[in-house]
Amino acid sequence: MNISPNKVTIDLSALQDNLLKIRELVDQKTKIMGIVKSDAYGHGLIPVATELEKLHIDSLGLNYLSEAIKLRTEGIKIPVVILLGITTSQEAKKVADYNLIPIIYDLDSARILSEEGKKSGRAIKVYLKIDTGMGRLGIDFSETGLFIKQLKKMKGIKIEGLFSHLSSADEQDTLFTKTQIKNFKEAISVSRRLGLELTMNSLANSAGIMRYKKAHFDLVRPGIILYGGLPCPDFGKPLALRHVMTFCSWVMQVRKVEHGTPISYGRTFYTDGSRKIAIISSGYADGLSRSLSNKGNVLIHGKKARIIGRVCMNLTIADVTSIKGVKKGDRVCFLGKEKGNSITSDDMARWADTISYEVLCSLGSRNNREYVN
Ligand SMILES: *Cc1c(COP(=O)(O)O)cnc(C)c1O
Repeated sequence: MNISPNKVTIDLSALQDNLLKIRELVDQKTKIMGIVKSDAYGHGLIPVATELEKLHIDSLGLNYLSEAIKLRTEGIKIPVVILLGITTSQEAKKVADYNLIPIIYDLDSARILSEEGKKSGRAIKVYLKIDTGMGRLGIDFSETGLFIKQLKKMKGIKIEGLFSHLSSADEQDTLFTKTQIKNFKEAISVSRRLGLELTMNSLANSAGIMRYKKAHFDLVRPGIILYGGLPCPDFGKPLALRHVMTFCSWVMQVRKVEHGTPISYGRTFYTDGSRKIAIISSGYADGLSRSLSNKGNVLIHGKKARIIGRVCMNLTIADVTSIKGVKKGDRVCFLGKEKGNSITSDDMARWADTISYEVLCSLGSRNNREYVN
């Protein structure tokens, strides 16, 4: 029997198309930083970063120093930004050695980097993280001036630009995002009045890129839309994106069951009439959300089949009564496109009450990945 095991497939040509769509959306002079944190949202850090560099993306952004060093050891040459910054002088030395760009969000990390910059004789480039309303990492935008005055006394670092993050750009109500944009502009002008040049200011994530031209500034930071997902399941489709990831599994057994048969743990589903069911070889340990229990669908022979009963650790059950000829070994797609039907990470996110980011990260990190195109 020809069985294809559980597998995530990554289509690099879709990544290329998505980047092209983003390029068309922003001004020619606007730079693009591809966000590749969390193993490139489950798509694989090195293959994705290598492809993006080949496609002439301007820079890459990720969370940790260790990930950035991995990129350098794999030969990635373009600017790499560490979005969560660094905290120790050992790390600062690595930043200098590997020519990386950390975010700074307090005077501690600024001092450490400044010392390292002076020692190595070459100023370390940094971005200053400003909180314009996200309520997370950064200095409050109203304190930008005070902070910059301190930084200006430090040699060995060069502030490339201000960074800030939008909290609500995926929502229908635009007021809060507009306030964040206004706060960000204010922080920029305060800094410029204090003599900083700031050529690389950046505010927009995927939702901001698609909805707020005024949030683009010098550099945009797309993450989820590079991979074809949406900021939230009901975002709408302003861009014709392609899904980069597919996840397929296989049918282990097909059974005919009587009316009233309880299905899976807890008997949360009883069959209504005699049914044909397929037992599928993947579950929550393979990265599927248990919230898909009695809610999700799968594609078999290109047709949608409903998930019935609870998703188990390594098994899931689907009702295939209306699909002809389903047999052991057949391919089952949880995420993918077959014969004109498709299930996207946004569909899955809607069924499981989450967002495509989580769907992609969990499937991508728990399965073997194959790269095509
Ligand atoms: C994750 C992240 C992004 C990308 O967000 P998306 O919504 O995936 O586009 C951009 N900037 C920062 C600082 C991030 O942490």
